[in-house]
Amino acid sequence: MPVEPSSPADSVPSSADSTPADPPRGEARRRFLQRSGLGIAAALAASSAATVHAAGVAAADANAVKLSLIQDPNTEQKEQTPDPNLPPDDRVGYAIVGLGRLSLNQILPALSQCKYSKVAALVSGDRAKALKIARQYGVRESAVYDYQSFEQLANNSDVQVVYVVLPNSLHREYTVRAAKIGKHVLCEKPMATSVADCQAMIDACRQANRKLMIAYRSQYEPMDRMIAKMVKDNQLGPLREFIASNSQNVGDPTQWRLNKALAGGGALPDIGLYCLNAVRFITGREPDQVIATVSRPDNDPRFREVEAGVHFILSFPEGFTATCAASYASHESRFFRLQGAQGWAEMDPAFGYNGLRLRHGLLVDGKNAVTELQIDPQDQFAREIDHMSSCVKRDAMPHTPGEEGLQDQRIMEAIYESARTGRAVPIARPTSPTRGPEPDEETF
Ligand code: NDP
Repeated sequence: MPVEPSSPADSVPSSADSTPADPPRGEARRRFLQRSGLGIAAALAASSAATVHAAGVAAADANAVKLSLIQDPNTEQKEQTPDPNLPPDDRVGYAIVGLGRLSLNQILPALSQCKYSKVAALVSGDRAKALKIARQYGVRESAVYDYQSFEQLANNSDVQVVYVVLPNSLHREYTVRAAKIGKHVLCEKPMATSVADCQAMIDACRQANRKLMIAYRSQYEPMDRMIAKMVKDNQLGPLREFIASNSQNVGDPTQWRLNKALAGGGALPDIGLYCLNAVRFITGREPDQVIATVSRPDNDPRFREVEAGVHFILSFPEGFTATCAASYASHESRFFRLQGAQGWAEMDPAFGYNGLRLRHGLLVDGKNAVTELQIDPQDQFAREIDHMSSCVKRDAMPHTPGEEGLQDQRIMEAIYESARTGRAVPIARPTSPTRGPEPDEETF
């Protein structure tokens, strides 16, 4: 739940997503439980959970199992009792649209780990595959649709959110169709393949008074969030450089990622976007200008339509720069380093689903000290999906709404223009904040 005090950067643009003023932590938790149907007594009990934890009990609402604490709560990490999970009937239901790699390998397994979310329907062009998946995840056969019968989701009251996991150029169509039938939308990155499509998606959801969130999972990933907090707390001093790279060797030349009409571009919108979005959300800054190049190896059948590689340098106010590279033709390598006048923080690997590592360097007692932070792995997709569910339950604006995807798309179009013209291209600052309030770490 977004209950941290809102900074100017966190104040919310006016849109169909009405954003209540951020209440205090306990209050937000109580309201969430109330709206989630857990009952007033249980909700009030849960609102004092922090106190109860300190007193030695892990969870306090009527639906939670109470466990005594065996570790010293003053010195040991809090036990991870999943509190307050919602009973299945109270969870926000998702229709997963497009059953490809991301849906099967990440999203559906992550839904099993969610606290507030569940899979309620599947949409696929391959009914045999969809029925197999439906059996695995307990989805009713009558809740399996194809692209032609998509609008029948309107009659399925178990579905509140449509999760669009299709090739990039189809995101607009299915977001607009979902909004028209009254469903909220969680849409995979990149948001779309043009600024016009991004705007049309925002407009459609606004007109239908439905929420639109772009699935920027890294913005819900704990290590990335720690670095953003270091920046907010000025631990690195004035920021100087961000250096990032994201690469992987693509195979099959016939896949949609190498088809311009379906993908919108090559390495840039698929993996370069991680570098671009990371520098924006970690620093909370917006670039003014970009200079870029794109590249393609000669005679490589994979890159007839899209770029293999992209390099771009973003200039920000006060001399801060971001130098980013992405490649579809290099061995997997993903990292970033943020350098400030008084320290640096890096993730290597960065951007992946798991195995992430965070190190930072500072001067300590006159010595260059490097620290590696190790924290329990948490499923980024589950956190991201549960954030959307909490926004639906509380009628709040998502942390990564359509405006966030639109700004990235504007910058990607400037990157391509710079590569085409060989000139630096100015980038207009967004006229209002592109992100909603910060998610709350306790309930997400
Ligand atoms: P896949 O190719 O593995 O799956 C896409 C699915 O879309 C297909 O399996 C198919 O599902 C459906 N589809 C409908 N029309 C088409 C079409 N014309 N061509 C191909 N597929 C079609 O892609 P991914 O799952 O890897 O990617 C889907 C989206 O998720 C993309 O936008 C991508 O950028 C994003 N993504 C995000 C990641 C993240 O970490 N956030 C990581 C990977 C991808 P069916 O057979 O069921 O109809």
